Amino acid sequence: MSRSENSVAAAEPPHQGCASAQTLTPAAPPAPLTGLALEPRPCATRPAASFRRRFYPGVTAAQWNDWRWQVRNRVTNLTGLARFLRLSPSEERAFSAHSGKLPMGITPYYLSLMDPENPEDPLRRTMVPTWYEAVVSPGESNDPLGEEHDMAAPGLVHRYPDRVLFLATGFCSAYCRYCTRSRMVGGNGHGMARSKSDMERAIAYIEATPSVRDVLISGGDPLTMADDRLEWLLDRLRRIPHVEMLRIGTKTPAVLPQRITKDLVRRLKKYHPLFMSLHFTHPAELTPETAKACARLADAGIPLGSQTVLLAGVNDSVPVMRKLMQGLLQMRVRPYYLYQCDPIAGSGHFRTPVSRGLEMIQGLRGHTTGYAVPTFVIDAPGGGGKVALYPEAVIGRQGGDLLLKNYAGETYSYPDQGGEWGPAAC
Ligand code: SF4
Repeated sequence: MSRSENSVAAAEPPHQGCASAQTLTPAAPPAPLTGLALEPRPCATRPAASFRRRFYPGVTAAQWNDWRWQVRNRVTNLTGLARFLRLSPSEERAFSAHSGKLPMGITPYYLSLMDPENPEDPLRRTMVPTWYEAVVSPGESNDPLGEEHDMAAPGLVHRYPDRVLFLATGFCSAYCRYCTRSRMVGGNGHGMARSKSDMERAIAYIEATPSVRDVLISGGDPLTMADDRLEWLLDRLRRIPHVEMLRIGTKTPAVLPQRITKDLVRRLKKYHPLFMSLHFTHPAELTPETAKACARLADAGIPLGSQTVLLAGVNDSVPVMRKLMQGLLQMRVRPYYLYQCDPIAGSGHFRTPVSRGLEMIQGLRGHTTGYAVPTFVIDAPGGGGKVALYPEAVIGRQGGDLLLKNYAGETYSYPDQGGEWGPAAC
């Protein structure tokens, strides 16, 4: 994504309010996604097409479905936002208290999924700044994972023995308020686009490091890069003999599904094995548009996994998490990681106790398809890497038997011949 494209000013129409929006004639219903019925959210469930007709009356469906139009028309300031949402005092204050670290940016498409009247709307909470971001709690920092310490080359984090993280861009089409890399996205730190010379230095490091067999391309959001630039990077990496696999980390199918064009997918499928980690937060993101984007990627043979950050008041309930994970499976996205929210500066209002994450896993494991259960991890502050956490299943021993607690909380014993592991029960 070029800077010039990013800087095109949005032409935002006046805010009409939720009530009037509801009086619209609904758009033709999209193909239903069975089992994805959301909790009642009367304003947020209106189709994107109705939102477009109401707020962008001069914009055609073709323009709306053009990802470049969506990026050019991102809502990036208080005035623009107030035209669509009835802002709370905390949201309004955020703009005056804002330290300028993480900018706001929301695609019109993603905005159409939010409840204009309710500041507690889950998607709205993840994208609209609040005053709470200015509150820095003990233990929080701008680089909690210590990524800068592990930079092997510009934008290249080499932490684990056989894989590297390639930060290809600092741009995202929408900025999550809990972003671990808020220090470097949206024009902070290294700026938006990684220069070609920086990329060459990162590629040269990988070429010279035979232990690297896996490259995760992230950012920012690499799918906001122009097709040619992204393909250039994939091609360069694919030519390195010891790089066995490539991965892309992205939130694009959730916030900008229009970006998953046939042409993009045609290019991506040339670089197999190519995996994708898709960032999803809430079942309200699982729209027909997103389903279509995921279907295109899956049909191209790209294994899809999900990454979800556990967020207080957004997705930290078992029913919401279950609906999200089951809905992702319907889209052929395998739940991969559930992250404890990193202690970035100003994240206290998003972070839950770690025990809540274990409750999520306990509420999923055994209660639904095993494929729907992600691994709950804490990315250890200071660069310790991911540490997986599991609810206690081994509760003791009885003679030679291991005592196990099943998903329903019942105790069973297993004849553990020669086993010494596990605490003694009695
Ligand atoms: S999409 Fe990813 S990199 Fe971009 S703001 Fe959200 S969490 Fe950060």
